[in-house]
Amino acid sequence: MRDFGSIRTSRGVILPPFLDLHTHISQHPIRGKFTEGIEQTTSEGRLLEGLKRNVYPAEALCNDPNRAEKVIRDFLADTLRHGVVGGCAYMTSNVQATRLALTILPDTWRVGMVLMDRPEVPENLRTDPGSVIGQMIELAEVFGDRFVVTDRFAPVVSKTLRRSAAKIARRFNLFTQTHLNEQPSEKLLVEKVLYPDYPNYTSVYHRDGLFDSPCIVAHCVHMTTDEWDVFARSGAIIAHCPTSNLLLGSGRMDLDEVIRRKIQYALATDVGASPTVSMLAEIGRFLQVHAGRSAYATPSEALYRATLAPQDILRMNALVGGLTIGQPASFIEVKPLKNSSSDNAEECIASLISDSLDDPALTVQQVTLRGRCVFSADSTGPNEYTACPT
Ligand SMILES: [Zn+2]
Repeated sequence: MRDFGSIRTSRGVILPPFLDLHTHISQHPIRGKFTEGIEQTTSEGRLLEGLKRNVYPAEALCNDPNRAEKVIRDFLADTLRHGVVGGCAYMTSNVQATRLALTILPDTWRVGMVLMDRPEVPENLRTDPGSVIGQMIELAEVFGDRFVVTDRFAPVVSKTLRRSAAKIARRFNLFTQTHLNEQPSEKLLVEKVLYPDYPNYTSVYHRDGLFDSPCIVAHCVHMTTDEWDVFARSGAIIAHCPTSNLLLGSGRMDLDEVIRRKIQYALATDVGASPTVSMLAEIGRFLQVHAGRSAYATPSEALYRATLAPQDILRMNALVGGLTIGQPASFIEVKPLKNSSSDNAEECIASLISDSLDDPALTVQQVTLRGRCVFSADSTGPNEYTACPT
């Protein structure tokens, strides 16, 4: 008889591992504090003011490589203990910090160096047009398609830089990523002030070539019908961030429109706009913001959009694996918070969601990635990537 070795009981509900399609590593230390100190209503909007007051100073700290390394290692430990094994992230405009992130994080993370060259950007974060092309080519040559061409968003990136960056993405077969239509004041700035010769905000990315590569676009809250037409035809992908959209007062993405047009999407935290890296909390928020507004907002849809959908979008099915014969075994074990005696999948998933979405209970017991335990809740000391007992 075949020896299967020791068999143990599951430490909770077994799920595919989580992937976060859109997050900012350098904002991990200020997660949940994006709009701290900013009035509810401002002339510029909470997004643009929050960037200047809280986000840019936090990102500039990562110009120091020691600080950047600590931020990246803390981010890795925190994501793992929440069952998040990878995804697509922004580092900062600093090439050394980006190189560190790509080196320290496992290959299940794709990472971008943030492009931002317009004169309004603080000097210590502004992209140097003389060196940026060489830096992007070097990162693409060393890290391959784990390096993501990252246009922060149209208010801070020139047309010239966007077009050059899009060419590099095409040349090296890279993903691109950006933000789109998060808040009305941002949309107004792009369409009326910065790019009045383009038909709309979405067409800035489309015409400048960003959508020629697989492009992950965060938010898409304030889209017109014309913009949805362009977007759907382009094949671009949405990183849907319900927590960020709620806490920054951005509004609600039209989920029915996205599904009706068969646009690919996955859930994402957009840390630091979100106070937590937890995708279970993001699932809870997705259900909360779309409740009574979309029939598609079910627990099973949310779980799929936080696990297998981003795995597919990021072309990581072979890399991450799962519970399919012939693939490396990757799964997480999660302790339910509520009693669920039913064998109904929707109720089972709902039983995993914390009532406190800002500070969810730590219920992930173990994370197994490609057959190796990379996090266990009984590890003593800091939850290092390799600290799991075998
Ligand atoms: Zn973001």
